[in-house]
Amino acid sequence: MQYNWSRYLRLILAGIGGTTLVGWYFGAPLYGLLGGMTLYLWWTLLQARRLHQWLGNPSASGEPPQSVGMWGSIFDSLHKLHQGHLSKQDTLRSRINRVQDSTNSMREGVIMTNTKGEMEWWNDAAEYLLGFRRSTDKGQYIQNLIRSPAFKAYFETRDYAEPLELNSPAKPHIQLEFQINQFGDDDRLLVVKDVTRLHQLEQMRRDFIGNVSHEMRTPLTVISGYLETMVDHGDQLPAKWRRAIQTMATQSSRMEALITDLILLSMIETGEHSADQEPTDIETMIGQIGNDARALSGDKGHHIDITVTGQPLMRGDHKQLRSAFSNLVFNAVKYTPAGGQISVVWSTNRDGAHLSVKDTGIGIDPAHIPRLTERFYRADPSRHQDTGGTGLGLAIVKHVLINHDGHLEIHSNIGEGSEFICHFPKERLAESAPETSVL
Ligand code: ADP
Repeated sequence: MQYNWSRYLRLILAGIGGTTLVGWYFGAPLYGLLGGMTLYLWWTLLQARRLHQWLGNPSASGEPPQSVGMWGSIFDSLHKLHQGHLSKQDTLRSRINRVQDSTNSMREGVIMTNTKGEMEWWNDAAEYLLGFRRSTDKGQYIQNLIRSPAFKAYFETRDYAEPLELNSPAKPHIQLEFQINQFGDDDRLLVVKDVTRLHQLEQMRRDFIGNVSHEMRTPLTVISGYLETMVDHGDQLPAKWRRAIQTMATQSSRMEALITDLILLSMIETGEHSADQEPTDIETMIGQIGNDARALSGDKGHHIDITVTGQPLMRGDHKQLRSAFSNLVFNAVKYTPAGGQISVVWSTNRDGAHLSVKDTGIGIDPAHIPRLTERFYRADPSRHQDTGGTGLGLAIVKHVLINHDGHLEIHSNIGEGSEFICHFPKERLAESAPETSVL
């Protein structure tokens, strides 16, 4: 309603003028004026009180109080504003409900936490997967509900490039993958996926490879044994069979190496060889690997240098570490032409421990580097036919490093040699001397 200010003013003046006239009629115009103004003040206060009451609880009475003039206009404007807010609120509420309904229909759990890590909201799937309860868990610290040291460490690192896998705290048979996204003022959105089926498939694949390799090992050992005996007595064989038997013996020992690597890889992957906590003397270990590498090099005359600086004791699985380091050093021998230089350097600093294996060999096209640690991946198969490798060496290295919280760095260029560096975190470095040295 359009409010007419001058008409309202005229009305007030007319009212006050009227009371003044009445006062004048009785010989006291001032009292008349005062009375008129008091009446107006009383009426204004009355309207202000009604407004105050309505603003205190606008939804209870619904409609605003009715009035005339300026007050009527104020009541109407406020009512319109209030209606506008209510309709905006309804729109927002229906949008929020829609977002909540859609996230509730997701199979992934979604959890929102605030800066302190207190749980603000989660969907139905999170309730099912993690066993949260709306009645009691709202506002709780998420680390108190998912009480795993791995989760606590992951949540606090704020480095969420890689997801974390854990068993559900409420249903241990469910394997979960956590991915955290940061938003707002250090608030976090956790997305939790059930990856149990993927895990089972992966486990089946590992078991299958492990079992097949084990089953093949015995017959292959028998075949290789007989073939070696036949090679040893080659002079008694007819000439036309000698070459065939020799080739069969070479190929069967290659298959044996492959089976041995497959079994080792499957053991490392399944954690059968858990990353032991015993301190391992790396200096002695790489000294021995250096001697084996010199024997492998034979008359190719590679120059193999070993340097150990800093702390030489590291906690880990001796057998796994030895396998990883020897794969790197033997690769350097295999892929470096005769007379080349191979440097093996162990060093420690405040970031942790590092083992670098550097050669002046044939090098690798950088395009292949990201895929080198995949099983059976070869940078250039045509160049490596005669190395007799299994194609599993770097896959073994990668998994050993994962088991020891480390990672592999590779630098190489065709014709410029290669450098493979194993990095281990400083927590792996041991202070004390090894109790028993397994050499
Ligand atoms: P392989 O048994 O074939 O050596 P690996 O897994 O040990 O298998 O290595 C994968 C591939 O990486 C090799 O086939 C080779 O192409 C490349 N490679 C590994 N180490 C070196 C190296 N020191 N110099 C050049 N190429 C290398």
